[in-house]
Amino acid sequence: MNCETVERGNVVERYVLGQLNEAEQASFEDHYFACDSCFEQVRLMQGLQAAGEGRPRPAVVLEMPRRNWMIWGAVAAVVVAGFLLTEISRTRQPAAVPVAKSPAPSELQLLARVDPPRYTATNLRSSASDRDEKFRAAMTKYAAGDYAAAANDLRGVDTAAARFYLSIADLMTGVVEEPVTMLRSIDEMGETPYLEQARFFLAKALLANHDIAGATKALEQTIALKGDRETEARELLERVHKLP
Ligand SMILES: [Zn+2]
Repeated sequence: MNCETVERGNVVERYVLGQLNEAEQASFEDHYFACDSCFEQVRLMQGLQAAGEGRPRPAVVLEMPRRNWMIWGAVAAVVVAGFLLTEISRTRQPAAVPVAKSPAPSELQLLARVDPPRYTATNLRSSASDRDEKFRAAMTKYAAGDYAAAANDLRGVDTAAARFYLSIADLMTGVVEEPVTMLRSIDEMGETPYLEQARFFLAKALLANHDIAGATKALEQTIALKGDRETEARELLERVHKLP
């Protein structure tokens, strides 16, 4: 599922109204947790629904034609604005004026965003790296979300696994150049369980470096492996193609 299929299938409203089947719902949730635009639409739609609660629901909500979408969006904005104004006047605090938001992330920044893969020691029970004390200590920090400390420890271990998680930990702390070299080096190691993941996150790292052509190539190489990341890589590639 991607933004286009979401829009075409009225997925957001059907989701909020509980009209999706289990598979559609799971697929949409996978997408919208990673997609700011769809996430925003779900929130908007839920706010709209909540605002209408307690009143008889107009029939139009159940069978909302697509052209009404914009109108409902506008209604929701008015509801939210009205709520904010009420809150502000009620609390009578000048400080209640909405705080200036940081600028919205660009599409490129959104695409470069990394969802750190979970590490489970049992997956790699037999690998040498898993027995490495230093590696295990680093991965405990990684699992706890302390990416800076994990990266620090991982620099002292040289296995495909360590190179991979070091790259992710770097990306999570805003270090974007080293991971490009590091992830490419995993590709040169030949057969490793990290090959597909390394290619996928190489694309992410290249996007973070504004290298669209490089990211496109890395995604095509990810897709070519036909592994677990294939669908995600295809969706990402589709969005990369649409970048200005
Ligand atoms: Zn989306």
